[in-house]
Amino acid sequence: MVINQSAWQELQQECNASGATLVAVSKTQPIEAIEALYSYGQRDFGENYVQELLQKKDLLPSDIRWHFIGHLQTNKVKFLAPFVYRIHGVDSLRLWQAIDRQAALASRAIGCLLQVHIAREETKFGLSPEELIDALDATNNGQTLPNAPLCGLMGMASLTEEAQQVRDEFRNLHRLFLELKASRFANCTHFDTLSMGMSGDYRMAISEGSTLVRIGSRLFGPRQR
Ligand SMILES: *Cc1c(COP(=O)(O)O)cnc(C)c1O
Repeated sequence: MVINQSAWQELQQECNASGATLVAVSKTQPIEAIEALYSYGQRDFGENYVQELLQKKDLLPSDIRWHFIGHLQTNKVKFLAPFVYRIHGVDSLRLWQAIDRQAALASRAIGCLLQVHIAREETKFGLSPEELIDALDATNNGQTLPNAPLCGLMGMASLTEEAQQVRDEFRNLHRLFLELKASRFANCTHFDTLSMGMSGDYRMAISEGSTLVRIGSRLFGPRQR
């Protein structure tokens, strides 16, 4: 499969123009497709499955920043801890603590994004805003987890054709992000990332304040399985 360089460039420029980071979501995609994007200059890649990521990263350049964006089981953290750059789907205090522990064992700091449940669907993972506050209270705003610094929030909007619904969800998450940034994290330089937006809704996400978009099919074409 050949990935169109100009399509990547356009997307990268769109993100640059608004100061958003482009994470290329390469789950299910072959090594050659990742290498193609890498050769254009892409360095941030996202994966959802631990086994798949472990297999791929050994075959690819070591300066890739791997973002783990899927649901992560606590007992799998140890496999990612030696190399992963960011973990986006932190959806429980227990997982956040496990990341801190395993990062310490690997003598690293792994930036974490707490996933907030913003969609109407029951199935999506994530903390409610109340659970998010509880997790922050329990960790003194993350200060008791020094090897898992909190870099921001992540959310996934409802899968719906109703644009206004999606916009409202992004807007609510952005508001929460700004409130925390201005209060609990006012003196914290690493709380700077709002991860929201995928192929179908990234423009809206950016216009609602996203600082990082996770784009798969728009870059790579349909998924391979
Ligand atoms: C698969 C996935 C994406 C990318 O989805 P596309 O619609 O292909 O852009 C983004 N975020 C998460 C959490 C994903 O699982």
